Amino acid sequence: MAEYRRAIGSRRIHVMEVCGTHTMAIARAGLRAMLPAGLKLTSGPGCPVCVTDQSYMDQAIELSRRSGVMTATYGDMIRVPGRNGSLGEARSAGAKVEIVVSADKAVDLAKANPSMQVVFLAVGFETTTPATGLAVLRAQREGVTNFSVLTAHKLVLPALAALLSSDIRIDGFLMPGHVSVILGYGAYEGIVRDYGKPCVVAGFDAMQIVKGLREILRELAAGEPRACTVYPTVHREGNPHALKLLEDVFTPCDARWRAIGVIPKSGLTLKDEFAAFDAAKKFDLPEMESYELPGCRCGEIITGRSEPFDCPLFGRRCTPRDPVGPCMVSSEGACAAAYKYERVRKT
Ligand code: SF4
Repeated sequence: MAEYRRAIGSRRIHVMEVCGTHTMAIARAGLRAMLPAGLKLTSGPGCPVCVTDQSYMDQAIELSRRSGVMTATYGDMIRVPGRNGSLGEARSAGAKVEIVVSADKAVDLAKANPSMQVVFLAVGFETTTPATGLAVLRAQREGVTNFSVLTAHKLVLPALAALLSSDIRIDGFLMPGHVSVILGYGAYEGIVRDYGKPCVVAGFDAMQIVKGLREILRELAAGEPRACTVYPTVHREGNPHALKLLEDVFTPCDARWRAIGVIPKSGLTLKDEFAAFDAAKKFDLPEMESYELPGCRCGEIITGRSEPFDCPLFGRRCTPRDPVGPCMVSSEGACAAAYKYERVRKT
């Protein structure tokens, strides 16, 4: 890596790791401390819980308090604070909130609780969206009419384009293996063409990440940005079955991202033929106001403008045991990763 770093010259290189799984793996391996001088790794908008806007959290919490409703959610969501407490606090006060490991398990819950309306909180990127699609198709096939999803699924590419159109300095992207298994690395060719930034897919162990960074530096040194992979499982075309499933069940929609705001066509919502499974329509949910959590700098962190250590609350008022914002709640959040593995470097 160092030879390419030298070949680039003295300018600082900013590489964004787009995925929370990478963020955690980088921190766990202590990679930041071993990088060549002048190479900076920043976290991007890749942690599903962290990018989910507060307005969605408030909708989910409001829904969970309704009589006859059971919300089913991935575990990390339960501790994200909303304006009136978290899902966990709503549960303590009597709301029916269940943690599930998959959308399919939420369909099981609906079948086991026919007197309840079970709403799955569907967040995440192209990695998790196909599973939501399969759950909706299963519910339709099996006539599970008390199942629905509150969708906040996001698409990776529009977020990258939005970041590159802003003032944030990014010289290349380390792309996540799991999302790229679905999308294929060919999906990033538009980013390379339009913005001239390398997009290199890597897996999630330290050697894969180092390989990916080395490839980014090599491309920058050569002045030849490419979309490519160092992760053999990822192919250029992605997974056609998963992509077809997304196309069959979902349609692109404008989506609100934490701190970034609304990005046109950056989300996925259910197609009209699945409206009966769309919780927002089924329960006539009102739009909620977007806002930032007081004192929390998650928005700056997921856009690469700040690091966890820049937040005055980090490790003091905000810890994994008592988190203030989603970047500390989530098992893929940048603040949680820094707290768990990188505090030593900073003390
Ligand atoms: S340390 Fe806590 S309050 Fe600060 S940005 Fe991270 S999650 Fe938000």
